[in-house]
Amino acid sequence: MAITKSEALFKEAVQYIPGGVNSPVRAFGSIGSTPRFIKKADKALMWDEDDNEYIDYIGSWGPMILGHNHPLVLDAVLEYAKRGLSYGAATSIEVDMAKLVCSMVPSIDMVRMVNSGTEAVMSAVRVARGFTRRDKIIKFNGCYHGHSDALLVKAGSGVMTAGVPDSLGVPAGCTADTVTADYNSLESVQDCFDRYGEQIAAIIVEPVGANMGTVPPKPGFLQGLRDICDKYGSLLIFDEVITGFRMQADGAQGYFGVTPDLTTFGKIIGAGMPVGAYGGRREIMEMVSPVGAVYQAGTLSGNPVAMAAGIAQLTYLKEHPDVYTKLNETADSFFAELQKIVDESGRGYQVNHICSLGSMFCTTQEVYDYETAKTSDTKAYADYCNYMQNHGIYLAPAQFEAMFISAAHTQEQLSQTLETARSYFKNN
Ligand SMILES: *Cc1c(COP(=O)(O)O)cnc(C)c1O
Repeated sequence: MAITKSEALFKEAVQYIPGGVNSPVRAFGSIGSTPRFIKKADKALMWDEDDNEYIDYIGSWGPMILGHNHPLVLDAVLEYAKRGLSYGAATSIEVDMAKLVCSMVPSIDMVRMVNSGTEAVMSAVRVARGFTRRDKIIKFNGCYHGHSDALLVKAGSGVMTAGVPDSLGVPAGCTADTVTADYNSLESVQDCFDRYGEQIAAIIVEPVGANMGTVPPKPGFLQGLRDICDKYGSLLIFDEVITGFRMQADGAQGYFGVTPDLTTFGKIIGAGMPVGAYGGRREIMEMVSPVGAVYQAGTLSGNPVAMAAGIAQLTYLKEHPDVYTKLNETADSFFAELQKIVDESGRGYQVNHICSLGSMFCTTQEVYDYETAKTSDTKAYADYCNYMQNHGIYLAPAQFEAMFISAAHTQEQLSQTLETARSYFKNN
């Protein structure tokens, strides 16, 4: 596969953009390759500047659950774009979006729109702290909640390691109230509460870990978090930026039957436009400015073109629950088949998946938290991933990311993908 145009563009890009990309995971650095510069996409396919065709398993990291260019989404965007791109004033379409989200997710009485998942989580945490009048939050090693200061805490630093920033430029003070626990370990959460008890404003969790590769919760884990929050008067925040509207219409909370106090959204809610949202119980959301004393604002929040895109996608999903049934069944058999192929190769790698999210970990260890995820052989993943890329299968260019199947993937495309994986394991 020739990628000469991508290579030339990347050379130019690194002169003007740090690392040549506007978000680090696009850089292909962890698989030692050159990022493909994408020029267009349709349904489950993408094309790069060299006209190579790929079956896309990223879907813009989740938003494209219906595939690229869904006609309803596209028409809505074109229609609203003609009316002016932004007014900085109240619009009816924001009311439509809020009602739609509240109707789809029963735990949400009120919702505030923002422009990214990062903003949504940052704001939800502020609201939780304002509501409880407490400062400490618990997050899990290996869970990603966007790049706001308080949440950039080094994963893997062990239970109750308060305040070790993950990035230069984050003052230790910003993370001093961030306490970390181990995913799928209620014991480690209890340890945090034993130590900090009634200082804890909230637990924030990805109800399915999807930023250390795909790591589903063990049975009882999420309910255990709910119980411990209730006991200590802390709030439970589900970061459903990935799982929201993906697993089913009411997200991971509906799937697992555990109700959080606050929920954050991103990705699918914008259908590819920059959108995030946070919402929850009325008494909590009424803490938010201008009703309450927790300040949060956004010049472009609730942007009409972005709302139009999101509403079109969410409405379709709400009205066609069979999309989820079919997508999740398709994904179940795809990942089962991938596991079979891996098993036949004798490598013993672990394929984790839930609904249309999945990851192949290059390890023989069962993966249920960040420590076990890190046992993966990232070089082996890079080798596999490069092979797949070079054969037209666009996977996440990093071990610790999920792959996303959309409703637009055809059986032929999925079979072709499995055949490519089979040939990799046969020849390598
Ligand atoms: C992607 C993601 C975020 C951050 O969203 P951005 O839109 O990239 O700011 C937050 N939480 C989770 C779980 C995510 O997957």
